[in-house]
Amino acid sequence: MDMKKGIAISPGIAVARAYRIDQALTGTTGEKIETSMVPAELARFDHACERAAQDLDRIIQRVAREVDQDSARIFHSHRLLIRDPALNAKVKSLIIHQHVNAVTGLRQTLQDYEKLFSKIEDDYLRERIADIRDVTHRLVAQLISAQKPENVIKEDESIIIVAQEILPSQAVMFNRFQVGGIVTESGGTTGHAAILARSMGIPAVSGIQDLLQDVKTGDLLVIDGREGLVVLNPGPEVESAYRKMQREYVNLRDALVENRDIEAITPDGEKIELLANANTVLDAAAATGVGAAGIGLFRTEFVYLSHSSVPNEEEQVAAYRNIIETAPHNRVIIRTLDLGGDKQVPYLGSHHEANPFMGWRSIRLTTQYPEFFQTQIRAILRAAVFGKVSILFPMVTTLEEVIRLSRLLENTKMDLRRQNIPFAENTPFGVMIEVPAAAICIDQLLDEVDFISIGSNDLIQYIMAADRDNPKVAHLCEPFHPSIYRILKHIIQECTSRQKPVTLCGEMSARPACLLALMGLGIRRFSMSPAFIPTAKEMVLATSLTEAKRSIEQILKMKSSQEIREHLKNRVRQLCPKVTTLDTL
Ligand code: PEP
Ligand code: MG
Repeated sequence: MDMKKGIAISPGIAVARAYRIDQALTGTTGEKIETSMVPAELARFDHACERAAQDLDRIIQRVAREVDQDSARIFHSHRLLIRDPALNAKVKSLIIHQHVNAVTGLRQTLQDYEKLFSKIEDDYLRERIADIRDVTHRLVAQLISAQKPENVIKEDESIIIVAQEILPSQAVMFNRFQVGGIVTESGGTTGHAAILARSMGIPAVSGIQDLLQDVKTGDLLVIDGREGLVVLNPGPEVESAYRKMQREYVNLRDALVENRDIEAITPDGEKIELLANANTVLDAAAATGVGAAGIGLFRTEFVYLSHSSVPNEEEQVAAYRNIIETAPHNRVIIRTLDLGGDKQVPYLGSHHEANPFMGWRSIRLTTQYPEFFQTQIRAILRAAVFGKVSILFPMVTTLEEVIRLSRLLENTKMDLRRQNIPFAENTPFGVMIEVPAAAICIDQLLDEVDFISIGSNDLIQYIMAADRDNPKVAHLCEPFHPSIYRILKHIIQECTSRQKPVTLCGEMSARPACLLALMGLGIRRFSMSPAFIPTAKEMVLATSLTEAKRSIEQILKMKSSQEIREHLKNRVRQLCPKVTTLDTL
């Protein structure tokens, strides 16, 4: 038995066999085939090239139509690469002469190219290896889609995904795999893969060193996502102790859901609104299941990330309408596309950046691609007739940006009016406060908007200058530093004095200890992954505002994260002991 300590990413306990995602995505390395299988393997490879080329044709047409010709160009070059005689000949020669399967042939060919390209001095040319990598992955995906993971994992067997890191675009596919848990070497608590794991209720741990060296597919693993613990090959006693703990955990979590029809009101009578963050329609359904008051943040990027090319206006209207009609009370705050950072799509000219979280992301892209964003705004405004919908713009930094976005919204409405297309004229317009510049100068922005939503995940990473996805700085990217409470106090005071509604929609609100402090600061509306709403409601039911205000007064005088964390954790243990079993406080 080997026990490893990492970072607690998503609460819960899982006991299951490990499944390495590198193998899931690329097949078993070095897999040999019989001589008699060679012709069939060559045909399989040709067939995969054919299907990948057809896919790219569709993508090229779509991107050219809906983004621009320039962005489509990159896919043209991928299409040419698929047919590249040298690449084809290399893979086929490996299949014929070394009797390896097509996936292995592709992997070896990619490795050879990587070695070759690493010697090129010209930066631009050297980086073209990214295109070869992309095309290889596309072909491998074609090859293994005909050979689904069910071949490797039994259909009814839950697995624990083991990987270097999980990309958000991979995490959205996880339902298919019956994922019971996730362990990774890298990834922080508020990165988007972590958020997805939490919203799907999948226990997860990251920051485990040498994971891929030590764990192979089929090893038995235990993970405890509350403590950040991973046990490799537990003995029978440890296994059965964790299975018992897992049952207790699930029972308690299910029992708490029974508070779904009770209003979230503090013992001294203050109403708190608990809304849900949603990435998919499944989250919207889960939000109803736990009694959320609505969807407080719909992250539209997952409509794009789970789509092989750009979803058009009609497809977007349908997707948003589906969310609105599934959401509790048909109430949804829809956020416009927040790509960049750890969420990339191949269109919109994605390219390597040294500092992607501080780079060309989110609404910053609207200056280069106004029409692309206008299509999204049209779709949101049109879908908004099906419920109580607000539109939210992420990552704003300056007043000029807010004015520009407000104009973009007004111009889009004007177009819809001119075309006699029905839409919700009075859709409220809000911005996210997640960049310190916007938080500090919030008084300047408030006159321009109907409401604000605090994105504490990004706000904290920028205040602390600590990447939310990097486990090495996870100790800094924590919601306990005094600076965080000071800046939140400022935001809330400004919003209150101008009577602008404010929601906090970062992961911070899902932590019972932070919820206590945030209620004390005066926030009355929170949005979090649906899975956390029952626990948050228990906290609200047990916490008087007098208590919360007393705590925040003390916190605002404290000098370190440690002091604040300890104070809050102790208070939660006293006020609402049962939530301590469920969560990382
Ligand atoms: C945030 O930054 O707090 C937020 C809610 O947005 P996201 O996690 O999608 O960046
Ligand atoms: Mg954010």
